[in-house]
Amino acid sequence: MWIDSHCHLNHERFEGADPHALADEALGQGVDAMVTICCHIADEFPQILEIARTHPNVWCSIGTHPHDAGKPAEQAITLDNLIELANSDPNIVGIGESGLDFYYDYSPRDVQEESFRKHIRACIATNLPLIVHARDADELCAQILREEGADGALRGVMHCFSSGPQLAKAALDLGFYISFSGIVTFKNAYELQDIAKIVPLDRILVETDAPFLAPIPHRGKINHPAYVKHTGEFLANLLDQDIEDFAARTSQNFHQLFTKAKAP
Ligand SMILES: [Zn+2]
Ligand SMILES: [Zn+2]
Repeated sequence: MWIDSHCHLNHERFEGADPHALADEALGQGVDAMVTICCHIADEFPQILEIARTHPNVWCSIGTHPHDAGKPAEQAITLDNLIELANSDPNIVGIGESGLDFYYDYSPRDVQEESFRKHIRACIATNLPLIVHARDADELCAQILREEGADGALRGVMHCFSSGPQLAKAALDLGFYISFSGIVTFKNAYELQDIAKIVPLDRILVETDAPFLAPIPHRGKINHPAYVKHTGEFLANLLDQDIEDFAARTSQNFHQLFTKAKAP
C-alpha cells in the first residue's frame, strides 16, 4: 500500500541483517515497493544493484552522499562515468543521494558542491530524477538547483526534508517533489509539519531513510522500510486525507517521478 522512496537496505546499522531478507520482510508487511539508495559508489553500488536485480519492486539509485564526496574513489568518478553507470541497468531509477551537508561537514564544502553539480548534470543527461540530501545549506542548495536546473530539464526529490520553507518553495518552483521521513512525526517538528501543509498533494513522497530516523512509535530504534506506514498515516491525518487515498496518491507521485521504476 505504501512505497518507501528512500532506504538503505545494505547499511551496517542493520547489524548484519541480510538486505535480501529485509526487502522480503518489508514487501510482506504492506510495502509495495522501495528504492535502496547508494551513498558510496565504489564501496556499495555493486551490492545495491544486486539487491535491486534480485527483488521485483525493489529498485536502486546510484550516487555519492555529500559525506563521502571527498573520498578519493568517489572523486575519481567523472560525469561520463556516472552517466554510463546510471544507464547500465533498468533497476537504477534515480541519481543520488547527493547534495550538501554543512551540518556534519564530513567533506570540504567546495568538494560537496562540485559533486552535487556533477550529479545534477548526470540527471539532465540521463533524464533520471535527482535525490537531494540537504542539511544546513538551504541557500546554496537552492542556488545550485536554480542555476543547474534553469532550463527546466531537471527533475528530482528533496529527500528526508528537514530544511526551511524557503528551500521547500525553491524546490517546488523547480517542479521537485518533497519527501517526508519519520522526522515529521516527532512531537517538536512543528516547522516541518507546517511545511508539509504547503506542499501540493501531488508533490509529496514518503520514505523511511531506514535504518535511520524511525518514526513514532519506534523513535530511537533501528528503522525499517515497513515503518513507512507510520509516517504516511501521520501525514494523512495532518493533511486531513483519507489514509488509503493518501497512500495511493503518494505511490502515484512516486511513479510520476521515478518513471524508470516499473512493476514486473
Ligand atoms: Zn540523506
Ligand atoms: Zn539516505
